Amino acid sequence: MTESSQNVLQCLIIGSGPAGLSAALYTARANLKPVVLSGMDLGGQVSKTDTVDNYPGFPEGIDGPELVSLFQKQAERFGTEIVFDSATEVDLSERPFKVTTYGGEYLAESLIITTGASIRELGVPGEKEFTGRGVSYCGTCDGHFFKDKDLIIVGGGDSALKEGIFLTRFAKSVTIVHRRDELRGGVYLADKAKENPKINFVWDTILTEIIGDGTVNSVRLKNKKTGEEEVRSTDGVFIFIGHIPNTDLFKGQLEMDDNKYLVVDERMHTNLPGVFAAGEVGDPHFQQVVISAGMGAAAAMEVVEFLEEES
Ligand code: NAP
Repeated sequence: MTESSQNVLQCLIIGSGPAGLSAALYTARANLKPVVLSGMDLGGQVSKTDTVDNYPGFPEGIDGPELVSLFQKQAERFGTEIVFDSATEVDLSERPFKVTTYGGEYLAESLIITTGASIRELGVPGEKEFTGRGVSYCGTCDGHFFKDKDLIIVGGGDSALKEGIFLTRFAKSVTIVHRRDELRGGVYLADKAKENPKINFVWDTILTEIIGDGTVNSVRLKNKKTGEEEVRSTDGVFIFIGHIPNTDLFKGQLEMDDNKYLVVDERMHTNLPGVFAAGEVGDPHFQQVVISAGMGAAAAMEVVEFLEEES
């Protein structure tokens, strides 16, 4: 769609994770004919998760990509249009809001921002050089390359634990290197990881360098308490140290907190009337699929009310 067509959407949703597709379902059911810009990965982070075990309704768990596909089908059933494109620029200075993408330009009376978050990089020497050659941020994507190999994981949250457990399907050993002596991740995953004979932990330690020759062969570790350093052999390094919200597009136009998360109130309103946000982009705290989906539904209901009040 281009500006010249003068076709103004009632609701444009930027992002296609659980928040975006739930917002699409609810706005579509309200007959707003929403358009979803999928971004680079339809489904967002969930599409790269092997099993989602804590989304209600799936007592045996469900594969991330399968859950995304179900979200998509349900949203499309009620008239959502999903466009495989990404927003490159937004102009929120007046309504209708203008969103430029690689493929065109959209005008919309309301926006729901569900752009999620991206992986946080460690920022150590060797990380960029060996990404794709032993350094990875996605167990589901790359785990099978490490059959019978020794792996290092950096991080102490649920992602490090969950991915660590997943990677033991392939790896000979998984060593989780955490910068403190206490995990951030929850008890369930922590217990599962600690029980797993292939997983061991290195506490109070940071990874300071990734070393290799073509591909990764070792890492430099430093104990934060003793200052002791060691070079440890490994075949791969998986980094799971949290996320950075995808909010660069909205810099200077929408209110953000110190960590660049969009500030939303309890009804998913940003500081700008007509612009709503849902999911991890506006949720520094929970970051769960079920909560993102709920936020998406709430944002959609608020859009319906917002547009109705105007008519
Ligand atoms: P997270 O909870 O923010 O944990 C990040 C971990 O990385 C922390 O342990 C942190 O250490 C460590 N870290 C951060 N920066 C680091 C650095 N520069 N060097 C070394 N270590 C660093 O992120 P997450 O694990 O990706 O989880 C994000 C959210 O998704 C959470 O709400 C989590 O519960 C949720 N999640 C849930 C599941 C599930 O199955 N329930 C699975 C995955 C994720 P400190 O602890 O010292 O801060």
